[in-house]
Amino acid sequence: MENFIKGSWSKPNSGRYAEVLNPCTGAVVDTFACSDLTDVAQVMQVAQEAYRDWRKTPVAVRARLQHAAARLMREQADELAQILAQELGRPMVGCQTEISRSADLLDFYAEEGLRLKGEIPLHNLDGEKALIVREPVGVVVAITPFNYPITLLTMKLGAALIAGCAVVSKPSEDTPLSTLRLAELFMQAGYPAGVFNVITGYGHEIGNALIDHPATAKIAFTGGTGTGKRIGALAAMHNKRVTLELGGQSPAIVCADANLAVAVPAIVRHAFANSGQFCYRVNRLYVHESIYDGFLEQMVALTANLRVGHPQSGADMGPMVNAKIYQNSEVQVADALSKGAVLKTGGQRLTGPDYDNGWFFPPTVLANTDHSMKIMTEETFGPVVGVMPFSTVEEAVQRANDSEYGLAGYVFSENLSTGLRVAESLEAGSVWINNIHRSYHDVPFGGYKQSGIGREKGRYGVEAYTELKTIYLNY
Ligand code: NAD
Repeated sequence: MENFIKGSWSKPNSGRYAEVLNPCTGAVVDTFACSDLTDVAQVMQVAQEAYRDWRKTPVAVRARLQHAAARLMREQADELAQILAQELGRPMVGCQTEISRSADLLDFYAEEGLRLKGEIPLHNLDGEKALIVREPVGVVVAITPFNYPITLLTMKLGAALIAGCAVVSKPSEDTPLSTLRLAELFMQAGYPAGVFNVITGYGHEIGNALIDHPATAKIAFTGGTGTGKRIGALAAMHNKRVTLELGGQSPAIVCADANLAVAVPAIVRHAFANSGQFCYRVNRLYVHESIYDGFLEQMVALTANLRVGHPQSGADMGPMVNAKIYQNSEVQVADALSKGAVLKTGGQRLTGPDYDNGWFFPPTVLANTDHSMKIMTEETFGPVVGVMPFSTVEEAVQRANDSEYGLAGYVFSENLSTGLRVAESLEAGSVWINNIHRSYHDVPFGGYKQSGIGREKGRYGVEAYTELKTIYLNY
């Protein structure tokens, strides 16, 4: 597929294309354009020109268009979900949910944009007022990872567009096809050409040029912490605005009085959804020693029941997206076992006719882990969890915070006071007490520490695409 620039397909000036592979079978699904610096210059100029009119378009018109795009996404959800399933390998139900939730998020942001307001402080000065207004930040470059290509884009796109920004999207090289289809769909919804463009290619080839370009006012990035640091450093050189949603290594604390009938299914669901390829998944568990054996038994039984397979097979989990992501799991399991962890289930690449050509790793539970092991300290981004016993809640909190990451945390206790105190102590952008579910659209999401800078979602997410301006008025 070609780039999507100014409302139509645009061949890359390099003439180069790369393949998108189906991670279940290794078959070529399609190709994407390997853009170069001249394509970057072209798309940035287009976005800059489109921005001039878009920022002046009434917010009510922008909201109508956004609702129209959300409607089209729902109408074409099956097709979009098929594309996602092919490039990502995730079970169909999960792909459909991604589309419908992303459409909901667009709707939410549209309404939130209508509620954006300025202020006039009551100075009561004769003939003088100060007006505090919000203006769009400008052209936004949205760089996204492979794991939730549409959700993670709409978190940026919906907020930026309703705020009056034009957007240049750079999707992951593993999953660019769904994003390209989305851009086409936005055109069908009636958006002016050039307001939402997609340029594909390798991050290390065009990333710097996208960030450096004088027209880029803000970079909204979701991806690995290493990549995020590089982007943040380059953006800082030019004082450009950033929102960085980066990696995670999220802990769950299961206290002695936890309701295991709730805790075990919630943790299993959240550790292995999308084959563990998401940033705020449960990566490591601290379980009170008095319930440790019973908890493990229940968790292993539920985990071993999960089915791994192709998107259409009704399986619970698909493959890893590529060899590099796959290897994290293998390396971390080997590392833990070499240091004394006990393998309770999974642990080895799946083989057989359905699996041999894909990157399939089973859901894996490692017991008796400790912080000398990668599974407890490094992001896995795969279907492996480490479990470790604790004796006091203070010790569990100290372990949970013993990480450079701070995206999310989880605590299970029937004593709400304990739950709330742990939640207050965890160094994380979001904490769930006694359940785990997807983050809501109307509350902020983002990380402490190395997990990022800034917040997406809610009114906070929209405000992040505006600048505050004070106008002093003398009359
Ligand atoms: P990645 O960092 O390798 O790539 C993400 C995007 O950055 C891709 O589009 C890539 O092309 C681009 N990129 C790579 N190098 C670049 C450069 N030098 N300049 C500009 N862009 C560049 O991440 P990934 O492997 O696709 O995704 C996995 C990572 O994403 C994990 O670490 C995960 O935790 C993180 N993630 C975070 C969140 C969050 O909300 N915090 C959500 C999902 C994923």
